[in-house]
Amino acid sequence: MTAVSVFDAPKPALSQAQIAGILHDHWGLSGSATDLVSERDQNLLIATSADRYVLKIANRAEDAGFLALQNAALAHIAQTDPGLGVPRLIPTVAGEGMVQQAGHWIRLISFLPGQVYAGAAPSPALLGSLGAILGRLSQALRGFGHPAAHRPGFLWNLDEVMQVRPWLADVQADHRAMVGRVFDRYQFHVAPRLLCLRGAVIHQDANDNNLLVDDKGRVSGIIDFGDMTYGRQINELAVALAYALLDCADIYKTALPLIAGYAAQFPLDPAEAEVLFDLVAARLAASVCISSHRVNDHPDNDYLTISQAPALRLLHRMDQTNPAFLAAFARHAAGLDPVADHAAITAWLASPACQPKGLFDIDLNRSGRLVLSLAPGAPGMEFTGDPVGHWTWLEQEFARFDARFAIGLYGEDRDVYKGPQFRSPASPEARSQHLGVDIFIRAGSRLYAPLPGRVLSVVDNAAPYDYGPTVILEHQAGPDGPLFWTLYGHLSRETLGTITAGQPVEAGQLIGFIGDHTVNGGWSPHLHFQIMTDRLGLSGEFPGVGQPSLWPVWSKIVPDPNLILRLAPESYQIDPDPPEKLMLRRAKVLGPNLSISYTKKLKMVRGSGAYLYDHTGRAYVDAVNNIAHVGHCHPQVVAALDQARTLNTNTRYLHNTILDYAERLGALFPAPLSVVYLVTSGSEANELALRIARTVTGRRAIVTLDWGYHGHTNALIDISPYKFNRKGGGGKPAEVEIAMLPDPYRGPSKTAQVYIASVADQIAKLQTAGLPPAAMFAEAISGCGGQVVFPDGYLAGAARLIRAAGGLMIVDEVQTGFGRVGSHMWAHGPQGVIPDIVTLGKPIGNGHPMAAVITTPDIALAFANGMEFFSSFGGNPVSTAVGMAVLDVIEAEGLQARALATGTILQTGLTALQHTHPLIGDVRGQGLFLGVELVRDRVTLDPATAEASAIANHMRDNGVLISTDGPFDNVLKIKPPLAFGETEAALLLDAFGAALGAV
Ligand code: PMP
Repeated sequence: MTAVSVFDAPKPALSQAQIAGILHDHWGLSGSATDLVSERDQNLLIATSADRYVLKIANRAEDAGFLALQNAALAHIAQTDPGLGVPRLIPTVAGEGMVQQAGHWIRLISFLPGQVYAGAAPSPALLGSLGAILGRLSQALRGFGHPAAHRPGFLWNLDEVMQVRPWLADVQADHRAMVGRVFDRYQFHVAPRLLCLRGAVIHQDANDNNLLVDDKGRVSGIIDFGDMTYGRQINELAVALAYALLDCADIYKTALPLIAGYAAQFPLDPAEAEVLFDLVAARLAASVCISSHRVNDHPDNDYLTISQAPALRLLHRMDQTNPAFLAAFARHAAGLDPVADHAAITAWLASPACQPKGLFDIDLNRSGRLVLSLAPGAPGMEFTGDPVGHWTWLEQEFARFDARFAIGLYGEDRDVYKGPQFRSPASPEARSQHLGVDIFIRAGSRLYAPLPGRVLSVVDNAAPYDYGPTVILEHQAGPDGPLFWTLYGHLSRETLGTITAGQPVEAGQLIGFIGDHTVNGGWSPHLHFQIMTDRLGLSGEFPGVGQPSLWPVWSKIVPDPNLILRLAPESYQIDPDPPEKLMLRRAKVLGPNLSISYTKKLKMVRGSGAYLYDHTGRAYVDAVNNIAHVGHCHPQVVAALDQARTLNTNTRYLHNTILDYAERLGALFPAPLSVVYLVTSGSEANELALRIARTVTGRRAIVTLDWGYHGHTNALIDISPYKFNRKGGGGKPAEVEIAMLPDPYRGPSKTAQVYIASVADQIAKLQTAGLPPAAMFAEAISGCGGQVVFPDGYLAGAARLIRAAGGLMIVDEVQTGFGRVGSHMWAHGPQGVIPDIVTLGKPIGNGHPMAAVITTPDIALAFANGMEFFSSFGGNPVSTAVGMAVLDVIEAEGLQARALATGTILQTGLTALQHTHPLIGDVRGQGLFLGVELVRDRVTLDPATAEASAIANHMRDNGVLISTDGPFDNVLKIKPPLAFGETEAALLLDAFGAALGAV
């Protein structure tokens, strides 16, 4: 430090004549000289006929070495960033950087055009350009050092800010403690990190008077290098912020473009961003201390106190702002992740390693739910301020929509937060954007920890609109992972005695109860649940709403709670087209004989595995859909549909996939079944089977099984008693005879003979009428007939008879094929028969329209009578790719074995229910093709039709989908996707038990 303080030495005052002489002698220039404002030097604007310059006559006390540093720095910048808006040093005619005259060091620098920044309106563009020029300066000076840059005792060196701490004593008493806290935080939080931050020579004084603004309103120049020192490069930005934030309306909105502009030129290290606002505060504290001290020494120097009041105001605002939040904000503004661990934590939460348990006794995913908006103008908002009224209204809504809870949205901007705690001095913007999810549920509901961890805090945040009793748990994102926290607000008072801070908790452990408005801050009963990736140094309480403009920061600190809740995405939307509305449209545009399931209609929007999701996101166990054989929307099957991008044509060209597929499918049948025809629906397959049989035999008549259904075409309705003999049917055509359904439960016998004899009778009847049969049609297990499994040997016996009569045996496996029966790939397998023709449909494409007919080479040859067989879509490259994927999945996932295992669990459970519920007359089926026949009387077998329907509806209300069928509609059909496993079996049995109890 210079021996005489610059404040003690008088400002230089060279005369115009002296100045003209110096300019002439040393720079060979002549021109006018006008005084420029300077605190301690004599600076003059020199205008020659050609150019403008600034002549800088240094204070006598100024150190030559320090001036040499400035010159060297400018020379360095001229090399590293020639376009940067800093003055250029003009050497003397003798090539010197400066000359000494009358005891003063004198330099000439280029004049930078522009207005001083002071007074410019601080728009984001202006602030951004300020950040950018400082970032460029930092970049240009990166690694630049100089012996004179080390200025021991230099008061404005922010790296040495602790040296002014003793002057805290000079600070006005009412601000002293607050300023002291800045030094405390600096000492414990910043100082230990200093050595890790990048150092270089820095300008360190980007105040309003040292910046120039061009005519486009952008900062274009930096002047006055008098505060240069070696220091942390981040100080450059901190000092600029300390000035820019003085009396700004919104700290965040002012700082954001400045930091972003700086970081775009000079990317920040996370550690630099982390201490940035602490350095801003430290600079302000230093300024207050230095000026307070000097006020004591020079009570008449106004300049010294000029910036003190705004600095104190800013310090107070920052003092009331969470420093960890400011650090997160700084990281965000610098283009870094606001929370370093955010990505690791959210990745872990979304990974299979994280298996959260349910928060409540009810399974939120499988319960009816409402979306409850708390946004301005949303339904129910008239009850704002009336929690009892709000809950009464909610309960009515629950009843109306069959819901058990309502969800309040994460990220929703609300206007219900009225307390002073929702405003902060840093910004006029209120905190109104919801950081958690609300689950409106009955007061007293038990609450469980979703993940293991430990209790961080259990406190009562009793202020109005606050959380009331609140639990925060601490968790770890995997064995070596970072910590994160979950918060549960608006609980009951009992919660405070349920768990204790510090105790470990298991996933699924009771941690509290939902409170009511008398204890929960004055809200209708609900849980506020949120996740925190950074607890911002807080415990006991944590913001549950944030400023909307800071959502990019808040949403990283408090990520989507659905990472743990795992509610379907539809839970977060109100569907503008609910079922009622679609029913009206459907009635107008779709034929009225298109049936629809259940009393309360379901609108499905998504499927996955064994689950279907309705428009509210509620999940239903699907125990009906044997079409989605390998699971709804199986990704491997969906991926196969991608073939549509490459080629989708017909069988009149050669293609590999159809051959690969036909070979693979054919190989799943016993010889001689090996020739494959590919079509697009079960009806089309059966139509083709009928045509083959009629062509090959030259006959028309058919023996069919009672209650059989084979498809919706005219010819198939004629061989489907399920259709022609029921409502709207035209009865049996003359060329069709009906064999008795081999129903061991309702029929006359439990063994096959009687039913085989019925086949013989029908064949004879046809023959007598001069209509020898072309074929017999039979399902492998009767589906529409009520999941009837035939007695052993029935199909083999029937096949013998029909063949003896010159007809073919056609087995319809449209419902039953592809491993569903567990013991065999095909349901005719256990019957010991090799049919002449097998038809396949439904599961073959997992929902993609495809079907197949399999027959023998001899029959295929006989069928080729000259008339072409062609199905436009059948066997196309897309369909066959899909069929291939279905076979792959069945094999890879062992679905046949799974059907057997799950089927056994179900049969055992259903049989157990049969013992306690007389309504269950019969439990039957194979694998996952099961039926439960309900009767009012086990002797008379009086069909319990109404009860079956009531049970299916009750189960639907409980989230399990089954259907009813059979001649009396009293058989519950269970034929789920094979993705259906043990869990789903348990859910089905539970729901069935409950339904049996209820009807
Ligand atoms: N056969 C049987 C046994 C069926 O159950 C069905 C459909 N329920 C069909 C054929 C007709 O199939 P699709 O609806 O694909 O035409």
